[in-house]
Amino acid sequence: VRAILLALMLAATACAPQAATEDFFKQTVLFSDVLAEYQDLNTRLENVAAPLLRANAELCPKTSRDIGITVHTVSDYPVELQAVARALIGVTDDMSVRTVRAGSNAAKAGVRPGDHITRMGKSDLTTNSQAYYTEISQDAFKAVETEVQVSRGNEVINFDVTPETICGYPVIVFFNENMNGHTDGKDVLITSELLRRVADDTNLALIISHELAHAIAGHVGQTPTKSLELEADRMALVLMARAGFDIEHAVASWKQAPHPYKHASGLHPSTSERYENFMAAKARIHAKQKRGVTLTLSP
Ligand SMILES: [Zn+2]
Repeated sequence: VRAILLALMLAATACAPQAATEDFFKQTVLFSDVLAEYQDLNTRLENVAAPLLRANAELCPKTSRDIGITVHTVSDYPVELQAVARALIGVTDDMSVRTVRAGSNAAKAGVRPGDHITRMGKSDLTTNSQAYYTEISQDAFKAVETEVQVSRGNEVINFDVTPETICGYPVIVFFNENMNGHTDGKDVLITSELLRRVADDTNLALIISHELAHAIAGHVGQTPTKSLELEADRMALVLMARAGFDIEHAVASWKQAPHPYKHASGLHPSTSERYENFMAAKARIHAKQKRGVTLTLSP
């Protein structure tokens, strides 16, 4: 969450003028552009990442429980943009639902963006801090079924939702002009420029899976090497196949996509080394699938 806010803050402050009153309308336009793009990019990323995080939960050393919503309060936005945020997107001091992922259990139960959260399971939302929300929601989501209470206008509504276990590595947008994917071992960060330039969702899934593989395998903190990169590529195809992605198309579209590191170095395998590694991994996956063997991360 902190990374999301930082990303948004950087993007918003980078192009927002000083918060003088006469600039309010100019600022409104700028902020609405940034926010609309942020919502669009995040929605696409959530939709592509969700099947990967769900299908591979049992392979992930860190898991979390999920119903498919993100939440926000006005304090999540830069101070100089809070008045605009209130007017433009209706965010308030109370914790409310920012996004509901299509097809998620929250969407099926009827939770909507803008709903104000009042209770998660047995705990009332007594403060509007993200940390407190995470604590009580993760506690409530341990149950097979739990209740989410919201207020919507004058109504108080209780929803029965069914949380599910997913990989505990949130996949989020980072506003940056470089085309890059990254993991710090906690989150998977995909830059806005990468999302703009990689139009194919299956190719995007491969990039997310590669970073997810680094996080799952505990590569973060180790010296980056060619073999760790090739290992992450191999594992990425397994994660994708388990989530039902077309790995044939993934490798083909990856080959067509722009490659920042074409030639091998100490850290980066060349594009052709990566391609051969992908082809070998793909063949092993197809052979296992033919024999009806469950795909795991071991070679
Ligand atoms: Zn890598």
